[in-house]
Amino acid sequence: MSAKLLDGKLMSNELRAEIAERVAALKERTGVTPGLAVILVGEDPASQIYVHNKELGCEQTGMHSETIRMSADTTQEQLENEIRRLNADDAIHGILVQLPLPKGLDEAHALAVIAPEKDVDGFHVVNAGLLFTGQEGVTACTPKGAMEMIRRTGVDLNGKEAVVIGRSNIVGKPMAMLLLAQNCTVTLCHSRTKDLAEHTRRADILVAAVGRPRMITADMVKPGAIVIDVGINRVDGKVVGDVDFAGVSEVAGWITPVPGGVGRMTITMLLSNTLEAAERAAAK
Ligand code: NDP
Repeated sequence: MSAKLLDGKLMSNELRAEIAERVAALKERTGVTPGLAVILVGEDPASQIYVHNKELGCEQTGMHSETIRMSADTTQEQLENEIRRLNADDAIHGILVQLPLPKGLDEAHALAVIAPEKDVDGFHVVNAGLLFTGQEGVTACTPKGAMEMIRRTGVDLNGKEAVVIGRSNIVGKPMAMLLLAQNCTVTLCHSRTKDLAEHTRRADILVAAVGRPRMITADMVKPGAIVIDVGINRVDGKVVGDVDFAGVSEVAGWITPVPGGVGRMTITMLLSNTLEAAERAAAK
């Protein structure tokens, strides 16, 4: 392997130690303990694991966490009333509704009820709009984590060609906006893109956020590129990314592994967003 590994575990450990220090300093200075509330509706097994990891992250960094478990037959009104209660709770600085919600519940409607300053997932249209217009808001955790990994390569991003594959509201689009804000020339690809490889081969920074196992092969990558693999796919009981790691790591300059890459950074950025929300609340 010739590419340098962008190790999400290592970076996360460093960042979490910094977050823990800032949490302790905030408590000492203002008496405020950052608090994260996670609403989990239903029994989805993957969601249970994600929520548990968020609780562990809070514990590790000295934050307060609350998990509100609601049954799968929760109504839209009950869910939104719970969000409103947390909006008004001064001990809570971040609110996260674990997705996906059970069928019959309207995700977009529920997310819109979260107070934008407590929207630590960064999914609220107000925060999406702030990012789009280049103003300060809460940035979605996965793209924020991916940007931190890119920043740590030390590469000057000015004028670089960045190609993002995937245009979801939670990964692809915000990722493109963050790269644009760093003066990259950004191309956003999706399922209707013609000749994907023609775009990816030009990329100094290539971000794959699709959900198709190992779709990015070595011949699609520019030598020396920074390759960020957001994809999480289960193949024969193993977790793999959207990038063919073995082949691409022979061509790229930097590469993120799956697991142990972007996914690991996502929860760390959730902790970072909760801390920042608490710092802003304490400064008011
Ligand atoms: P979505 O399903 O919402 O979006 C996938 C995107 O990929 C769409 O824009 C789609 O295009 C595009 N796409 C599909 N097929 C192709 C193709 N053949 N060529 C080019 N583009 C294609 O997924 P998410 O954005 O939510 O997630 C993407 C991946 O990232 C998933 O594997 C998910 O599990 C993972 N993920 C990882 C996280 C982490 O913490 N590491 C967090 C969130 C997601 P179109 O719009 O035209 O349909």
